[in-house]
Amino acid sequence: MIASGVATSYLSHLQCSECGRTFDADRPQNLCACGSPLLARYDLTRLAGALSPAALADRPRTLWRYRELLPVRDDEHVTTLGEGMTPLVALPRLGERLDLSRLALKDEGIGPTGTFKARGAAVGVSRARELGIERVAMPTNGNAGAAWSVYAARAGLAALVVMPIDAPGVTRRECAVAGAQLSLVDGAIADAGAIVARAVADRGWFDVSTLKEPYRLEGKKTMGLELFEQLGARMPDVIIYPAGGGVGLIGIHKAMSELRELGWYDGPFPRLVAVQSAGCAPVVRAYEAGERRAAPWGDGETIAFGINVAKPLGAPLMLDAIYDTGGCAVAVPDPELLDAMHELARLEGAFVCPEGAATVAAARRLRETGWLQRDERVVLLNTGTGLKYPETVTADPPVLRPGDPVPDGH
Ligand SMILES: *Cc1c(COP(=O)(O)O)cnc(C)c1O
Ligand SMILES: [Zn+2]
Repeated sequence: MIASGVATSYLSHLQCSECGRTFDADRPQNLCACGSPLLARYDLTRLAGALSPAALADRPRTLWRYRELLPVRDDEHVTTLGEGMTPLVALPRLGERLDLSRLALKDEGIGPTGTFKARGAAVGVSRARELGIERVAMPTNGNAGAAWSVYAARAGLAALVVMPIDAPGVTRRECAVAGAQLSLVDGAIADAGAIVARAVADRGWFDVSTLKEPYRLEGKKTMGLELFEQLGARMPDVIIYPAGGGVGLIGIHKAMSELRELGWYDGPFPRLVAVQSAGCAPVVRAYEAGERRAAPWGDGETIAFGINVAKPLGAPLMLDAIYDTGGCAVAVPDPELLDAMHELARLEGAFVCPEGAATVAAARRLRETGWLQRDERVVLLNTGTGLKYPETVTADPPVLRPGDPVPDGH
């Protein structure tokens, strides 16, 4: 599968994102003793001397093309369904409507399991398997559980998944068909998290909750590496991202920092925008107050299930990424996001998930306030396909019988 036999991981150690303490990367690790997420660190000085961006060109069109910047050491443990290298498509008609001349969509709906959760699961599962972990457990709003279930199945690991009873129905079925041990909870993702914490403490499951192990983030950071390659060794001016746990946003920021440290990129960082639903917007509230931490939201409510995260562990890292790049955080109400979903499909043929549609609504607002300039290169990150949320769209076509008048074309 991996084209270059010599490509190998430059992973050196793990480091606490908050207190800086370092950890052995070749043993299973969760959070730092201070309660913060650990970040994978690579020997970038040595890598800078060994690899150039041009050398990537002929590699397979999956996220494993960034083998050196990923944590898996041995090819034997790479568990892949072909994830990564999703298309970056221009949005000329929507761009005209929003008065944005260089608007594009990175479409994560094209890929295994139909969401970008496949990236985190591919790398997280591969590395778990490499470290000898046999049983992984996680709370989820649906898509992460589905992705980890199928990759765990492929790697021969057991998966325990707990999700809210209201999570998208298809994600339940994905977990079930892949043989995961699935439970529902009449509550939110935090309630699912409490159940998983007990399974971890009492039953020996390994905790792969969002940012509680360091490698899911490494899979998601490849979106940033891909954008850099897809734009010809450049970065967009702005990236708009629907933020729940924030792994994608934090990952893209990490990717940009690594590219800079490698000496591959010396331009400005794209301004990173976190979009949340007005029904669950802890990061937006913190951003508006100029805080570095986010207070829990309480009862989140939104149809954009993937971003219904009231108490994200990664909030400080998200806020860092926003402040460091001169970005911002925006809340959009659900009706606006639903309208945007239809608008994008009608104008550009892209049927995106409600979370992805939130980025369209945010772009409109940010252009109206002048925060976005007309000619800036703006990338909307669509995190999943609308096909996973069929109930968000109604369709009531007429049922015709053979002799009925045919539609007149209007
Ligand atoms: C999980 C998810 C998100 C949010 O991703 P985070 O990395 O948790 O911020 C956005 N959209 C969809 C479709 C998701 O499944
Ligand atoms: Zn720490």
